[in-house]
Amino acid sequence: NADENIEENELTSMLKCMHHRIDQLIDVKELMHREMMKGLSKDTHNTADVKMYPTYVRATPDGTESGDFLALDIGGTNLRVLYVHISDKVVKQIAETRHEIKDLKKVTGIQLFDYVAERLAEFMEKNGLKEKTLPLGFTFSFPYVQKGLTSATLTAWSKDFEVSGVEGEDVYVLLQEAIKRRGDISVNVLAVINDTTGTLMSCAFEHHDCVAGLILGTGTNACYIEKLENVDIWDGDTLPPQQIIINTEWGAFGDRDADGNGGVLEHLITEYDDEINRSTVNDGKHIFEKMTSGMYLGEIVRLILVKLTKAGVIFNGNITDDLETKWIFKTKYISYIEEDTSVNNEACKSIFKKFGLEIKDEDCEKVKTVCSAVSSRAAKLLSAGIAAIVCQVGRKEVICGVDGSLYKYHPNIKTIMAETTKLLAPFMTVQYVESSDGSGRGAAIVAAVAQRLK
Ligand code: ADP
Ligand code: MG
Repeated sequence: NADENIEENELTSMLKCMHHRIDQLIDVKELMHREMMKGLSKDTHNTADVKMYPTYVRATPDGTESGDFLALDIGGTNLRVLYVHISDKVVKQIAETRHEIKDLKKVTGIQLFDYVAERLAEFMEKNGLKEKTLPLGFTFSFPYVQKGLTSATLTAWSKDFEVSGVEGEDVYVLLQEAIKRRGDISVNVLAVINDTTGTLMSCAFEHHDCVAGLILGTGTNACYIEKLENVDIWDGDTLPPQQIIINTEWGAFGDRDADGNGGVLEHLITEYDDEINRSTVNDGKHIFEKMTSGMYLGEIVRLILVKLTKAGVIFNGNITDDLETKWIFKTKYISYIEEDTSVNNEACKSIFKKFGLEIKDEDCEKVKTVCSAVSSRAAKLLSAGIAAIVCQVGRKEVICGVDGSLYKYHPNIKTIMAETTKLLAPFMTVQYVESSDGSGRGAAIVAAVAQRLK
């Protein structure tokens, strides 16, 4: 029993760095807000972590949009092709296909976009659309600068992509060229958007008060509707509506400088986050994303478990090669373990069996504690970000559309976010509305709004 107590204490103290006090979260909220302001201002934009890119999406749906639309959605994990019909304030999905793109992270730009065009052509063939020219919305969820709805120059890859020949290029052009190279399909690409914008627009289609969009999938990002007068970096027209969706690209919040130091989240960064940085192609970049999103949380859990094992606190000190394999512990396992309420911890045991470990119930309890420490930290940091956005929006009631598998499937993140946001934005009512598949449907909606305004 005494031994158990010592182990408990060691576990608690090792996880202490993952628990943030409310004053620390308020600090994160204020730092995020400050970075957002830096991003919006011409003078400080270049040095801001949070770039606050104007999306050129100004008008939200008014319900009169109609027609048939295609959408392409490239996230970090899947490529999706959608065919939707919009009318009478309803977006009806007629067909959809999904392809895993994890093997395309290191190819060339030409190969990536040829692949996309090929899947699109296949889809159109299968759905009898090959003779048609349909309007298309393109969701491409990586950081880029826009000069219009149909221009999107990639600044830097994230989510461990390093496809060559795309950084500094316009992905709208790359897509058009790939389609042209085939020569067998014809589409009218009306907009390039990211998944947050899609989620906001998709949510706004049903909830007119929706002013923010959040993604929590492979990566994380958020956007919101800002008053044009607050957007110093905007140099487009100032015709009504005097508003614009700002893509925060908040994944980069806390980035280190070129020498590897100086990030504003430095005081919260743990040794596990450092290790994650070292294992990724964008070391020192996308710090906030790496502390909060699906691509990374599983690996953070694994790193903690390895350390606990080596300290003899868990698994009887038995370390296996599997457990030492980077990225082997998927973020979905965190969900399976946290949601498992069976008395004999079946989910947890079967996951570790795959790694060659027969584990006891008391180990399962410890694993669960680690998982929930990592997922709650993510939920709380994200809430601090949303609180900053809500503060900037300045309305009493705010609806935030959310999409992404981590938000959707994790058993506790939703609740923790709702509670934490209430604490961090006490004078506002923030409602998170799950916008299932917002990122793909949203691209079709943006295309539909663009078509209506043409
Ligand atoms: P994308 O980011 O490509 O748009 P998703 O929104 O589906 O795709 O997010 C994929 C990410 O969500 C993966 O990185 C994975 O880690 C995470 N994920 C998938 N299933 C679950 C789950 N059941 N629980 C928690 N995270 C999950
Ligand atoms: Mg997505």
